[in-house]
Amino acid sequence: MNRHPLTKQDKIDLKNLTLEELTQFLSGMGKERFRAAQLLRWIYGRGVVSFAEMTDLSKSLREELTERAFVSDWTAEATETSSDGTKKYLFRLADGQTVETVRIPMEGERATLCISTQVGCAMQCSFCLTGTFGLVRNLEAGEIVNQVCAAVKDGPVNNIVLMGMGEPLHNLDNVVKALQIFYAAEGFDFSPRKITLSTSGLVPEMLELGRRIRVNLAVSLNATTDAVRDELMPVNRSYPLKELMAACRQYPLAPRQRITFEYILIRGVNDTPADARRLVKLLHGIPAKVNLIPFNEHEGSAFRSPLPESIDVFQTYLLDRNIVAIRRASKGQDISAACGQLKGKLERQQRRLPPP
Ligand code: SAH
Ligand code: SF4
Repeated sequence: MNRHPLTKQDKIDLKNLTLEELTQFLSGMGKERFRAAQLLRWIYGRGVVSFAEMTDLSKSLREELTERAFVSDWTAEATETSSDGTKKYLFRLADGQTVETVRIPMEGERATLCISTQVGCAMQCSFCLTGTFGLVRNLEAGEIVNQVCAAVKDGPVNNIVLMGMGEPLHNLDNVVKALQIFYAAEGFDFSPRKITLSTSGLVPEMLELGRRIRVNLAVSLNATTDAVRDELMPVNRSYPLKELMAACRQYPLAPRQRITFEYILIRGVNDTPADARRLVKLLHGIPAKVNLIPFNEHEGSAFRSPLPESIDVFQTYLLDRNIVAIRRASKGQDISAACGQLKGKLERQQRRLPPP
């Protein structure tokens, strides 16, 4: 799957390296270990990508680095800002593919960044526009990291959610590396509490993730019976609800930490009071919170957004049973900020197809 080269003219992109890998790279050049921390401070702490500007490194080290390495740096090819302040970035990758990133303003000056982990997605969920593209390729760790590096130029990013294009657990190695880079104290110094990974429910990889690294987990549940979930999310045919919920019970959680269950409400499909009842049973014994997301209608999908009263009934049922249930307003609707929708729009424009 690693079709995309790590190198530019055989040089290594330092954005692909964790602190440990950078230390190894430098010791291979006969350099002191602490130089790795210095480099991370320049690259992520100060956003400097030119070795020439890294003035606390000796001239000879800067020259050697210039010969053997580079630091990639992204600028968005297109951006759109919604009336509610949500900003969407489209990035073109070295091989011509594109990915998208969304900055979502929160209370105060805070912002959450929604990042992509793959070009397209292999999971084929029937409600999801990204699913219709199929999987093109995994993103390298540096391509995951660069979405954050580009966005922080517009202001601080307080939280990161891996909820853009792609199934993060289908690209586990690069995602774990990117998380290690986000957590490095010398770099962005993100707390694992500020990063959430969302999965469609790849059970073995969920358990592997829990063994390898700390991160908040979100599970896209979206149905309360195997019959409906099989139709909405083909992954359920491999890992049905019973196995998925068992994996959630095994996922290591810190005190007071909860698993987020995302539940897209689709009119007449999964938004009935019977679904709310089954959902409460499924979540029994799991430290959980539920995000209720009204389905975002898009071209090519026959699914419809739920009626406002069915959202209210569903949410009230959960709240009355002491389940934290937050209704997520779809942000940035006027800029098609939902998963995969800007990419879809741009590709339609490029193919000169009429808008939906
Ligand atoms: N592949 C991972 C993470 C990315 S999908 C996953 O599925 O969890 C990001 C989120 O967008 C998922 O929760 C998905 O259910 C949601 N989503 C996809 N299409 C949507 C739509 N049309 N309306 C609302 N949410 C959608
Ligand atoms: Fe992939 Fe997530 Fe979309 Fe499903 S919802 S197709 S897993 S991006």
